[in-house]
Amino acid sequence: MALDATTLTVAGSFVTALTAAVLGFTWTQFRDGSVALWWAGSNLLLSLGIGILAVVWSGGADAAIMPLGFLAMTVSPALAWTGVRAFNQRRPHPPLLLAGPLLIALAPLAAPPSLRAEIGAAINLLVTAAYLGAASWEILRPVEERLRSSRALGIVVGAHALFILACVRDTFAIDLGRPAPFGTILGAIHFEMLVYAIASSVFVVALVRERSEAIHQKAARIDPLTGIPNRRAFATRAEFLIERAVREGAPVSLLMLDLDRFKLVNDTHGHDFGDRVLQAFADSARRVLRPNDLLSRWGGEEFVVLLPGAGREAALCIAERMRLAFLTAGEAVGGTVVHATVSIGIASDQAAASTLDELMKRADTALYKAKRLGRNRVEAEPAECLEGGAVIRIA
Ligand code: GH3
Ligand code: MG
Ligand code: MG
Repeated sequence: MALDATTLTVAGSFVTALTAAVLGFTWTQFRDGSVALWWAGSNLLLSLGIGILAVVWSGGADAAIMPLGFLAMTVSPALAWTGVRAFNQRRPHPPLLLAGPLLIALAPLAAPPSLRAEIGAAINLLVTAAYLGAASWEILRPVEERLRSSRALGIVVGAHALFILACVRDTFAIDLGRPAPFGTILGAIHFEMLVYAIASSVFVVALVRERSEAIHQKAARIDPLTGIPNRRAFATRAEFLIERAVREGAPVSLLMLDLDRFKLVNDTHGHDFGDRVLQAFADSARRVLRPNDLLSRWGGEEFVVLLPGAGREAALCIAERMRLAFLTAGEAVGGTVVHATVSIGIASDQAAASTLDELMKRADTALYKAKRLGRNRVEAEPAECLEGGAVIRIA
């Protein structure tokens, strides 16, 4: 099989332009997808650079435009690097973006004329590898958000950086005016570049999709005002925790919490201020609860907490701590004295025999009692005692 380097280069340029189009389309689909746009620009430059080489090698243009092609191929990974920085909410880095092209333009001038072309090509490759290495590091460095696609992309980009580095030696060994022979590392670039352009584009698209899905999933579970799980997330998780408690015969308690005279807070200070009081409540509750306790905004100014492993006494203790924490936090919010308080109703099961619905109803009854008895207090339903494993409630 006779392979023709010029044909491969034309195909490479075409495929890279196609990946740029796919990435551009991805950008239009995702609001937070600027990495796809940067990467589209990067692949477009790569396509242009490869295209220039193809035209020169096929005799369609003067070799004098070659450096332009190499420059395009070097600026290309600089854009990819800027794209992944944008993905991590970091701004472009103008000094380093300029440093690469400047080095490429100026460094060969200091070289002896006989080696100028070789040194120029080597510097091109080194700068390219440096931008790719920086991009790979940016993608792989530990961040709070863990996306599976980012590891794949980081590895692809890192491997490409190493390949480009490995090509540097060849710039001194082969004639740079013609396509590198297939037997050399630089000659393998026709294939490696295709794999890189396609694989990196696939993973950039996957990255953007994965983040978008994660954001949507979070939005469906988290209450945007307070940052705690909403009713839907609570119901799913609570069912699971209650079932587990039933299996283990462990106690479980449910707290229902309702801010006192909250309508008055809104009427006096405005709805926005009311929102801040709700946030202050969620913050104070979070501080008191243990990691396994499940806090949720049930709706409006009502919250629920599921306490796996907590019996009646433990629940009373935790509820009282929550009440006191908000008594302090709700005294003044953002400098405005408001004396906000919370009432809490508790339902407990010593051997987790109730369903979530039953616990909710019982906690609601206890909450109603707390309101009736003057608010800013904790009420548990009457004590239960266990006899022969059955739950008997004393009315
Ligand atoms: P009680 O002590 O009996 O619970 O009295 P209350 O005023 O708290 O109860 P009520 O049910 O009469 O009023 C609840 C208020 O909570 C009315 C509603 O405007 C307010 N509210 C519900 N959701 C929000 C919210 O997201 N933000 C703000 N600021 N207010 C809310
Ligand atoms: Mg209410
Ligand atoms: Mg209320």
